[in-house]
Amino acid sequence: MPDREQPIQIVWFKRDLRLEDHVALCEAAEAGPVLPLYILEPDYWALRDVSGRHFEFLRESVEALAGSLAARGASLVFRVGVAETVIGTLLDRFKGARLVSHEETGNAWTYARDLRVAQMCRDKAAPWLEIPQAGVTRRLKSRNGWARRWDKTMSQPIRGIPDLTPVLDVDRGPDWPQADHFKLPPDACPQRQRGGREAALATLESFLHERGEPYRKAMSAPEAGAKHCSRISPYLALGSLSMRETAQAGWHRQRTLPQSADARLWSGSMRSFMSRLHWRDHFIQKLEDEPELEWRNMHPGLEELRPQEADQAVLQAWSRGETGIPFIDACMRCLIATGWMNFRMRAMLTSFASYHLWQPWQASGQILARLFTDYEPGIHWSQIQMQSGTTGVNAIRIYNPVKQGHDQDPDGSFIRHWLPELSGVPDDFIHEVWRWPLAMQSLEGRYPRPVVDVQLAAKQARDRVFSARKTLGFKQASKAVLAKHGSRAPMRRKSRKTAPDSQLTLGL
Ligand SMILES: Cc1cc2nc3c(=O)[nH]c(=O)nc-3n(C[C@H](O)[C@H](O)[C@H](O)COP(=O)(O)OP(=O)(O)OC[C@H]3O[C@@H](n4cnc5c(N)ncnc54)[C@H](O)[C@@H]3O)c2cc1C
Repeated sequence: MPDREQPIQIVWFKRDLRLEDHVALCEAAEAGPVLPLYILEPDYWALRDVSGRHFEFLRESVEALAGSLAARGASLVFRVGVAETVIGTLLDRFKGARLVSHEETGNAWTYARDLRVAQMCRDKAAPWLEIPQAGVTRRLKSRNGWARRWDKTMSQPIRGIPDLTPVLDVDRGPDWPQADHFKLPPDACPQRQRGGREAALATLESFLHERGEPYRKAMSAPEAGAKHCSRISPYLALGSLSMRETAQAGWHRQRTLPQSADARLWSGSMRSFMSRLHWRDHFIQKLEDEPELEWRNMHPGLEELRPQEADQAVLQAWSRGETGIPFIDACMRCLIATGWMNFRMRAMLTSFASYHLWQPWQASGQILARLFTDYEPGIHWSQIQMQSGTTGVNAIRIYNPVKQGHDQDPDGSFIRHWLPELSGVPDDFIHEVWRWPLAMQSLEGRYPRPVVDVQLAAKQARDRVFSARKTLGFKQASKAVLAKHGSRAPMRRKSRKTAPDSQLTLGL
């Protein structure tokens, strides 16, 4: 155990709110007394991609972390302020201290903030040890061998909680402020998942042993997906669970499944789940490699494709679930109330805003970012671009919301649950309520008429995208995108018993 004479280790918790498998904490604890720090940064909470639901989920997660530290005799030091000022003040006070943290692939703002913190550390000649979190590689030269490295990282031993020598005589800081202190608009999200390590573990456990069996076939429908998908995304986003813990729990489950016909559903579902854990870091790697993807089209030839300015009235109708297209509106209202949506419906909502409504993806993406409790910039912006056709290398996929409604909500029960004003609409018209002969007299003033003609808007969007793809130099630029961000050929695994299935089939 380090003695109190050794240099103080300021462990800066960011999106790694746990003590278990926390490599930065372990490295720090071996080197000296630990000062665990969390900084609430007002400028971050003024951004357009953050929301009250993020703030409350974070509060719960940080409180849980503080409780775990307290149980080990250490106190979380909490500060509200500018990161480089807060850390600089601590470095001035504790001469010779070292800053230790995980690397963060956040949004453009956190990227710029980290650059400022690094500069401040250099100015003070203070070391900052940054350790990779999960399978994302900083300053990656090439995607070759990426999946193999991911497997290797995930296979490393899980680090236990180290003994901590606390730093005494440091002010623990203020109470957690209210969201309105940061002028965050009210954001009730009554059915939001709760933050914290305990909730994270319970969610993973119930998925792996109870809820996950029909995952593969249930994931595409919003109602069944909410029950049978893992729902671990917000815990991974804030690091209440480490990716390594999650991957190893998944592999362990795969290894211990009975080899009988009864386990066939489980085993298919677990394979799908493990692939998605790969995808997570695969997508985050894109933003790590090109932070501009948050606002700039991945394919340079598509920069002028859509208008720069959003039509606020149209976007507002979409964001409130008032487009007049029942399945779109039901998904949006479900998202508003729960903070979660399954993959397919996230893709459909994005596709509808980007293609049918022809709105800039940056604007609709910010709205969705605020609504997703699990907002993870790396996945989010890469997916938003993919579902908006701006990567230039993926197949154009324009989801038809009427077809999706028939496929994923055949009896309309999901629609009726989230749009009670449509409860009296007969089954035959629930997905295309504008075709119902009584729509005018029954729904006027209660449910809007469709903002677009679904078929026509899709055709117009398709024509625009395909004509942009035919321009000179487009193919050449696509090759460059593929070389930078594309996943490489699927890897063959030796055995499911010893190693994960690391196919990267989705994405570029
Ligand atoms: C437009 C759009 C925006 C998205 N934004 C986010 C976001 O901000 N945060 C986020 O976590 N996910 C995002 N996703 C990916 C995916 O929809 C969610 O990860 C998933 O629905 C979360 O639910 P789950 O934890 O039950 O996932 P599960 O299906 O149980 O998957 C387990 C984990 O694998 C990862 N994962 C699953 N699907 C994907 C995928 N397609 N791409 C990358 N990783 C994946 C997630 O970490 C997820 O928690 C987005 C998808 C789209 C189409």
